[in-house]
Amino acid sequence: MPENQYSFDNPVDRYPHIHPPTEQVPEPGRDSELDPPADHGEDNYLGHGRLAGRKALVTGGDSGIGAAVAIAFAREGADVAIVYRREEEVDAQAIAEQIRAAGRTALTLPGDLTERAFSDEVVQRTVAELGGIDILVNNAGKQIFSTDLAELPDEQFDATMKTNVYAMFWLTKAALKHLPAGGTIINTTSVQAYLPGEQLVDYATTKAAINAFTKALAQQLAPKGIRVNAVAPGPIWTPLQPSAGQPPEKLPDFGSQTPLGRPGQPAELAPAYVFLASPESSYVVGETLAVTGGMPTP
Ligand code: NAD
Ligand code: MG
Repeated sequence: MPENQYSFDNPVDRYPHIHPPTEQVPEPGRDSELDPPADHGEDNYLGHGRLAGRKALVTGGDSGIGAAVAIAFAREGADVAIVYRREEEVDAQAIAEQIRAAGRTALTLPGDLTERAFSDEVVQRTVAELGGIDILVNNAGKQIFSTDLAELPDEQFDATMKTNVYAMFWLTKAALKHLPAGGTIINTTSVQAYLPGEQLVDYATTKAAINAFTKALAQQLAPKGIRVNAVAPGPIWTPLQPSAGQPPEKLPDFGSQTPLGRPGQPAELAPAYVFLASPESSYVVGETLAVTGGMPTP
């Protein structure tokens, strides 16, 4: 593990080439039970005040990529609200503790984003309890593999669309009532938007939709001074993967197909979100920043 995100080393070996067990865990997976554990920057993300005084809402901020983003945002000086499912309270409390240890306010918002009323409520509570919202990170996601479309339940298709696309739409719509000029929206898409896997038809469809949503809305909101961008992660070691995100037999080789030869760690994603959230990226609008370990994207 690097000492901090600036440590000069070989990216091939910056993190271990892990071989996770083929064991499946129930959805939602938890970081507190992830084997091997992932790095969210707890011991190495170094902040520099790049988001001083900002108010951020990060969905899925309890674990994985969202947790790394929440820790980084707090260490860069932002107060952070995190949204997660009720079953994930243990993970959420650990991240809230990290936010508070950075001297910032943490707001924990458990609930189900596939319910429209809850998506509205989390924006309202962020505004009320943090005193506003400057940054919205639509990062919560659902990914369940399915080998045969004929067997893909309507309920799964619906839940994947609702979590990955509808919640993003609802949260963005609610946030737009409050986001000031200078505010930013960052959506988590995926390399799956460009290289859709045959076992992730529903999921890959949502990730392509998130890219189009980002690029269309970015043009609409730019004149108002609100920037919309996306991050496209490659294979990242998070609780999404062993909780039916992949067929279990693929887990031991997860991420080894990338040019770097290993999966990414959530901590390696956080700097991309910090860059897009901060005014230093003021002329970056409608971009999808790929963080894929070298997997090619258009
Ligand atoms: P993760 O499981 O740690 O995070 C996903 C989070 O989404 C969960 O923690 C959960 O809190 C939240 N969530 C899901 N359904 C919800 C609901 N109905 N209501 C409220 N919250 C809900 O896994 P992650 O890999 O960090 O995923 C974060 C994002 O990154 C997702 O959008 C995922 O699609 C995307 N992504 C992940 C990878 C990867 O390889 N891990 C690659 C590309 C994109
Ligand atoms: Mg989680």
